[in-house]
Amino acid sequence: MSAPPAPPRIVLPHVPALVTGVKGAVLLDTDGEFHRLSLAQAAAQARDTAPLVCHMPAVAGRLGLDHFPALDILELFAFVRPARFCLPTPKGVMEAVGLARAADPEDEAEGLFRCARMLLEELADATRADTAVRAADTRSIAWAMARAGWGWGTAVLAALGIQGDGGRNNGLRVWERLPEWSEHAPEPPPGNVPVEAEEARKRLAAILGPTAEQRPAQADYASAVTGAFIPRDHAGEPRMVLAEAGTGTGKTLGYIAPASLWAEKNGAPVWISTHTRNLQRQLDTELDRLFPDPLEKARRVVVRKGRENYVCLLNYEEQMMRNRPQEAVATGLMARWLLATRDGDMVGGDFPGWLSDLLGRARTLGLADRRGECIFSGCPHFNKCFIEKAVRRARRADIVVANHALVMVQAALGGLDDASQPTRLVFDEGHHVFDAADGAFSTHLSGMETTEVRRWLLGPEGENTRSRARGLKRRAEELVGLAEEAPAALDSALAAAQALPGPGWQNRIMDGAPGNPTEVFLSLVRQQVYARAQGTDSPYSLETECRPMVDGLAEAAMALAQSLGRLGCRCCCSRAAWKRSWTTRPPTWTPPPAPASKA
Ligand code: SF4
Repeated sequence: MSAPPAPPRIVLPHVPALVTGVKGAVLLDTDGEFHRLSLAQAAAQARDTAPLVCHMPAVAGRLGLDHFPALDILELFAFVRPARFCLPTPKGVMEAVGLARAADPEDEAEGLFRCARMLLEELADATRADTAVRAADTRSIAWAMARAGWGWGTAVLAALGIQGDGGRNNGLRVWERLPEWSEHAPEPPPGNVPVEAEEARKRLAAILGPTAEQRPAQADYASAVTGAFIPRDHAGEPRMVLAEAGTGTGKTLGYIAPASLWAEKNGAPVWISTHTRNLQRQLDTELDRLFPDPLEKARRVVVRKGRENYVCLLNYEEQMMRNRPQEAVATGLMARWLLATRDGDMVGGDFPGWLSDLLGRARTLGLADRRGECIFSGCPHFNKCFIEKAVRRARRADIVVANHALVMVQAALGGLDDASQPTRLVFDEGHHVFDAADGAFSTHLSGMETTEVRRWLLGPEGENTRSRARGLKRRAEELVGLAEEAPAALDSALAAAQALPGPGWQNRIMDGAPGNPTEVFLSLVRQQVYARAQGTDSPYSLETECRPMVDGLAEAAMALAQSLGRLGCRCCCSRAAWKRSWTTRPPTWTPPPAPASKA
């Protein structure tokens, strides 16, 4: 008796496909017939049939709906090709999987099914060719998502050859699969070997390749940049490039050539800093010309950004452990991305931005590290943390792609996450460096910043019970007993923190009912700006002169300065003029009594 035939591996969903335009839509029904519909007709179909679409929130927006049940091709794409790019449109997905460009909406509707078939075939083939552990992870993640009711669950399980019980669920514990970063001995200090002009020209020619158009000006420029890669002659006089040139002039490769040579000769990284995260991405892509082998590039090039750009594994674990059915698809797709991402960068890295549209910001971008929440070596994932890994990799890389804000904050704080400071810097988009320096080296006060400080000091308040921020008291409890004066100092700081904006501060300020010195100050600043600035309906760049101040603003500033002084703030409030004011004028607000110490 012959064995029963194996079930088919490619099972396409039996639903219509819907593609919307600005004025109308095309529906490909389950009998293979195309229908041209008005947007109102398409909305009715969408609600009733749970169609195959591309980017449900965008389609819903066109149809005037908040939401409708749908099978989104982008979710399948994110599962099969995690950490890979495609435009979130039918044409974009078709192009990404290698299909011919759609000529009309009918082609696009049919193309959605063809994309689904190709992605499922790709998944089946890739999982057969994968290592046993990786294939088991893929199956386990798919199983967890399917069990929670993922629309693609049946099709994906069939493609993976899963029948009946999919087995273990621990594929979602991705941290167990991630490699640990290893601590190396401190790097030796960088050498002082110069880069010769002729070497830079040759390196540029090698990067461009033999068939490239000859551009003598670019070669001259590369050789001129070597002036920034000669040894320093005087302490405190840095060697740096401040580059500014139009697009298409060959500026980037012109400085990459000598920078890469200097890094190789001196055993230390050159930091290339640009203005925005998007430009960081472009620069990183340009470095493919220097390091075409992805493995070599991963070793020799590191993209550095602020911590809030990177996923926090502890946040992911907390989401996974909550085990809520409504979060299962997001957790599964995040698990797939975490196992595939190059560096855990969620903003401008290999995280598809449209995933947060599909799955919700809190379940995706909300997993990034938040200020004051990292518990560093107290974290069970510290040795696998993407942020810590990026810091350590940057020490051993040839090229670090950073942004001006990070470089300037690092300069202002003397090292940031890392005590080491680069000795060779290239500032691209050089005209923005001065603004970044202003931002990092100047003192400013804002509602958002002061709210963060309060949260850092007092821990989560109000409804934000999911936050891991622990407040200064819990963080410092083991240290407080070590010094006699510490409990009183801690209590004083916590009492002073009551002067910072608490939950709901924005509403209180807009309602003219501020609750503490910072809120009083911000409320009066707001009053002055709105009274005098032009275009007050714009959310951006509302500015006006400081003087003359509206009634009460000077006094509010003094009261605030006194309150911040109790926190030990050593910026504006330590200035002599402010100090004089405190001694001559009484404060207009008195902090509440310090809470009783448990120490
Ligand atoms: S070390 Fe900090 S940022 Fe990294 S995973 Fe742990 S808590 Fe998150």
